[in-house]
This record gives sequence, structure tokens and C-alpha cells, in this order.
Amino acid sequence: MAYNYDNQNIFAKILRGEIPNNTVYESEHALAFRDIQPQAPTHVLVIPKGPYVSFDHFAADATDAEIIGYIRAISEVCKAEGVTLTQGEGFRMISNAGAHGVQEVPHLHVHILGGRNMGRMIARAD
Ligand code: 5GP
Repeated sequence: MAYNYDNQNIFAKILRGEIPNNTVYESEHALAFRDIQPQAPTHVLVIPKGPYVSFDHFAADATDAEIIGYIRAISEVCKAEGVTLTQGEGFRMISNAGAHGVQEVPHLHVHILGGRNMGRMIARAD
């Protein structure tokens, strides 16, 4: 089954400038902005600029430059937020994919969460 990217998803609209966002970092291949419903003192979403639904889609189809640019952008955000192990107390990085991952927005994003102890990794949904 092929990956099916929906151009009308919220993050595609943010990338096109149709919806405002609170940008914390931008580069050629990535944009990072604050989550509209923060779950921790630091809660930043980092997205690639290309049309990828999920991490597996990105890993399969993105160029090497896009992949390097995206990973570096995530690292820059962690540094800018002061949560790296050289600066702070660490962070959690989450990327939800599809129905079982309970992904709300179908454009690849990594959540960077920090500024407090994040507790157990997952709670059972059932
Ligand atoms: P997911 O469940 O897809 O991993 O998470 C999507 C995230 O996007 C949620 O944490 C949600 O609060 C955030 N979100 C949804 N719509 C918007 C929006 O319009 N702007 C911003 N900044 N975040 C959003």
C-alpha cells in the first residue's frame, strides 16, 4: 500500500503560512513550533518541510539531505530549549504514526517534551 499524504492537514497549512504558529526554529528542511496544547513546560513539534505522513514514510522516501536536515533541526531545538544532557535534565521525543500510534495530524512530527520528569513512557489505552 502506498503512502497517501493529505495536503489539507493542519501542518501542511502551517507550512504554507495559512495558519499561524509559534515558530522556535526554521531551516531549509524543517520547521519547529510550540504545541497548541502543551503537555510539559517544553513541548515543541518539529516537522520536515516535505510531504511525509509518518516516520516510516520519511525514512523510505526522503532524500539524505532532508533526513540529515531534519535530525539536525531536532537537535537544534533541544539545544535552544535547554533540555540536552549537556545543558539540562533531558527530554522525551515521541513520534506517533497511524491509528495504533494515535496520530492526530498526518504530517510527520516529533514531539520534544521536557522541563519536568515525564513519568512512565506509556499508559495503556484499554
Ligand atoms: P499527534 O497526536 O498527531 O502526535 O499530535 C498532534 C499534536 O498537534 C497535538 O499535540 C496537538 O495539540 C497539536 N496541534 C494540533 N493542531 C495544532 C495547531 O493548529 N497548531 C499547533 N501549534 N499545534 C497543533
